Amino acid sequence: MSILNADLHCHSVVSDGTLTPEALAARAAANGVHLWSLTDHDEIGGQHRAAAAAREHGMRYLTGTEISVTFAQETVHIVGLGFDADDAGMRRGLQATRDGRGERAREIAAGLAQAGIADAYEGALRYVGNPELISRTHFARFLVETGTCKDTGEVFRRFLVEGKPGFVPHRWAALKDAVQWITDAGGLAVIAHPARYRFTANEEYALFTEFKAHGGRGVEVVTGSHTTAESVRYAETAREFGLAASRGSDFHSPDESHTDLGRLPHLPGALTPVWELLADRIL
Ligand code: AMP
Ligand code: MN
Ligand code: MN
Ligand code: MN
Repeated sequence: MSILNADLHCHSVVSDGTLTPEALAARAAANGVHLWSLTDHDEIGGQHRAAAAAREHGMRYLTGTEISVTFAQETVHIVGLGFDADDAGMRRGLQATRDGRGERAREIAAGLAQAGIADAYEGALRYVGNPELISRTHFARFLVETGTCKDTGEVFRRFLVEGKPGFVPHRWAALKDAVQWITDAGGLAVIAHPARYRFTANEEYALFTEFKAHGGRGVEVVTGSHTTAESVRYAETAREFGLAASRGSDFHSPDESHTDLGRLPHLPGALTPVWELLADRIL
């Protein structure tokens, strides 16, 4: 089962990806993906399109989203899979999570203006596919376009991370709420790319412990943002906490993403894949 080519994490123009749900589906199918999920940030507006496109390409589909959460003063991402995309509680929760993004974007632009970069709000907006979902990625694309930086990675390092002029502290959803929105809508909650967080060992232990206590059941073991060593490490964490394992590229754009859809290592055999727990939610 774990050799199935499942890609359960990627982004479309509905959040901060550059491809439409339909173009992503075509690319995933061409890359041999059998089970796919589109997981836009704080947004499920692309789910019906993605499911329909998956069907056209003969792929199985799980509904998806990636919810921004604040835990121990750090931003953590929780992927939700296999929920009812029309669930009212889920829609309300994601709407509330998106609500602060407009004001935050204005503040990011004000910070960049102080660093000598004018009109970044208007510049970022040109890259936005969904007016409710303006993200740091859109600012990064604008700064690459204007030649301020050579790629989006450099923009983040120089301007958009903590301590830099375009960084704005923000309070996202609570861990408990995000897990509850997903599970109440019939889905399964997954800790996204755990190696990306700058937690102490104690904070990370607290994250996994509280996540489980709230009903979370999975963790990304193989992702586009893990090294092989990090996948080995989080395979061990999955076993330790009795969590199922997920696999996803976190693909955003052909020009920016190092890991293409479906082009990543298989899950280690000894783990339970999340899709085994979601058999009755697969479309
Ligand atoms: P936001 O939700 O507006 O804070 O934006 C977060 C998004 O920025 C992530 O989902 C990534 O797509 C992108 N991102 C974060 N850090 C980096 C980085 N170091 N390099 C490139 N993209 C990044
Ligand atoms: Mn993103
Ligand atoms: Mn993420
Ligand atoms: Mn992502």
